[in-house]
Amino acid sequence: MPKRKMILKTPRYGFTLRRVWSEIVAKARAKYECPRCKKIAVRRVSAGVWKCRRCGLVMAGGAYEPLTQMGKKIVALYPPKDRMIEYPR
Ligand SMILES: [Zn+2]
Repeated sequence: MPKRKMILKTPRYGFTLRRVWSEIVAKARAKYECPRCKKIAVRRVSAGVWKCRRCGLVMAGGAYEPLTQMGKKIVALYPPKDRMIEYPR
């Protein structure tokens, strides 16, 4: 049996769709700063689930980026000290 080719799952037909897709995938695959250990080590586990590969913190976030535009507004309205968010070890 021949080796299986790796199939890239990109949208077909249309430059705009491909561009939007590549922007979203780049965001989803990037590493982000961990709010607990401040290292650039947070990666996407699945839709809305983000995990730090250094300290193991698992947190909820946006589907394709940890802090969405709406999330930033919420953080601006209610700073973390008001929300009493703690990141236990
Ligand atoms: Zn961390």
